[in-house]
Amino acid sequence: MSSKCPACDSSNTKGFQYFSKLPVIFYPVSRPFLGKIAESELILDICLDCNHIYLVSVNKDILVEIYTKYYEFYPYENLESMVHIYRNPFTKVFHIFYNESFRKLLEVGCNSATQMQVFIEYGIECSAINPGGGGNTELVNFIDGFYGENRIFDSFDCIVSRFNLEHIEDINLFFSELKFNLKDEGMVFIQVPNNEFDMKHGILYPFVHEHTHYFSRDSLIKLSKKYGFQVLYISDRSSTSLICVIKKEIEEYDLEKVLSRNNKLMNDLVGVLNSTEGKIVLYGCGMSTSTLLSSKELESDTISRINIVDDNTVVHGRFEPNSKLEIYRFKDLENSKDLTVVLMLNEKYHKKVLDKVLRANCSVLALTSRGVIKIR
Ligand SMILES: [Zn+2]
Repeated sequence: MSSKCPACDSSNTKGFQYFSKLPVIFYPVSRPFLGKIAESELILDICLDCNHIYLVSVNKDILVEIYTKYYEFYPYENLESMVHIYRNPFTKVFHIFYNESFRKLLEVGCNSATQMQVFIEYGIECSAINPGGGGNTELVNFIDGFYGENRIFDSFDCIVSRFNLEHIEDINLFFSELKFNLKDEGMVFIQVPNNEFDMKHGILYPFVHEHTHYFSRDSLIKLSKKYGFQVLYISDRSSTSLICVIKKEIEEYDLEKVLSRNNKLMNDLVGVLNSTEGKIVLYGCGMSTSTLLSSKELESDTISRINIVDDNTVVHGRFEPNSKLEIYRFKDLENSKDLTVVLMLNEKYHKKVLDKVLRANCSVLALTSRGVIKIR
């Protein structure tokens, strides 16, 4: 009877490879261990829909033996050639996707602050979960435990799993925990061996007891989608490892609903401006400002009190179409009396503009997706 694919749930699976006995570790051992390494069978199935290969059953006793007794012989930890092939490509992808909202990061299966240097250098608050914890707790908050089995009651902007997921028996539990621990706008960075590449290029049988899963590009994509993640990036089939960046799928945009909200925002803004007194500065001569000025509800007294400023030097001295409204720099108007400044630009620029506006003695409003907000 064939098993169900743990990555994509397909039943279109079959036996892939059977080894009647393989040593439980493949790395060279020291003399006292000669002839004493246990051997065990290894049974692998493959999913014909996504090329995922997986252990049919996991022998927990062997895994405990590997991690407690033999992992000291793991010879690749600080190998320079591994850094070039595996570590550097990950770092490149992380730099590309890094953004300033990454405040808190969790790495799964890491016990070394040195390995997390790239995150620490960005000033990100770092935690890591690993059986046995880890060293240098001044730099990283190490949690002793197995991710998934020991729930972390916290949320993160960024979760990292490097060469860890292939060791995890229950990858479904792992992904449901990712959903629990990841903030809505957060990102997960996963790196696993690329089994398709390994088998085609030089490693005849890249199978070891401690890897319960051998991911393909398709299986990693299908597993991510099954848990409602969108794939922002994944390496191609010919990469030495698979690096994958995922985030939570956002709900579909209902544009008619968004438009009716925007119409209400415009009406609210017109009402607010008609009831203000004194000079009005609209900050930003973009589309919201042009549409506002063409509103029939805007009273002529209000229009006569409106001035427009913009930071783009190209538009200074030019005029709003079909009006006498010239575009100024903010510093031309910042000393006006009874001044109300309204931020009319894209919300992502508000913080930068506010630094300047709040230095002037004026009231400040902002047109935002949450409404017309009084900032001061
Ligand atoms: Zn599958």
